[in-house]
Amino acid sequence: MIVIKSQQEVDRMRNPCRMVAEFLQSMREVVKPGITTLELNQLAEQHCISHNAVPAFKGYGGFPFAICSSPNEVVVHGFATDNPLRDGDIISIDFGVLYDGFYGDAAITLPVGSISLEKQRLLKSTEASLYAGLEQVRPGAHLSDVSAAVQQVAERDGFSVVREFVGHGIGRELHEDPQIPNYGSPGTGPVLKQGMVLAIEPMINAGTRHVKILSDGWTAVTKDGRPSAHFEHTVAVTDEGYEILTCV
Ligand code: MG
Repeated sequence: MIVIKSQQEVDRMRNPCRMVAEFLQSMREVVKPGITTLELNQLAEQHCISHNAVPAFKGYGGFPFAICSSPNEVVVHGFATDNPLRDGDIISIDFGVLYDGFYGDAAITLPVGSISLEKQRLLKSTEASLYAGLEQVRPGAHLSDVSAAVQQVAERDGFSVVREFVGHGIGRELHEDPQIPNYGSPGTGPVLKQGMVLAIEPMINAGTRHVKILSDGWTAVTKDGRPSAHFEHTVAVTDEGYEILTCV
């Protein structure tokens, strides 16, 4: 069942969403060669403490960190480590918080130092696929219009869409209905209504779409070892379109 939020509830979601966005924005300055993902995770924990918020992912199904930190071929759900990031890496950071009864969730992929042309294209295309999906969000649209728009951009650019992980509704729960695949044909699935709040999150691979899970039970990597990128926003369906809640 897809929960419709009142305007007051959407307004209450602005705080956790802004906290997430502010942290991810700060990462643009912080991420550089030499820093470790454990240090990034520590900063996320501090961000939560200073905002009286709860890190949403820590303890979720046993996940041990406040952020999912996923370098290079890691698609999503990477563990923080004490391995320094190196010049030429990319790092996906997915972060969520719970505040005042509601969740916010967003992700970005950042370059570490100077990155290859292929990685630049991958980051640009993945973010563009997210915005192409967002552009479909309005009352009366079908959910799969979003999915199809994401897929169209990623595949146009020669990349592939991960199937195993999808976006989701969000609100009083981190993961609510509906599931939001990043592929599919337009014109099917639930019809969007004002008051739905959606976390849309394409994960796009430079090589093939196939992934495997490492022995820690969480870390998803590309099967071919090529890089993967991830961008996510939490958005509300408004009376005539959408509003990004995870903005600063
Ligand atoms: Mg999410």
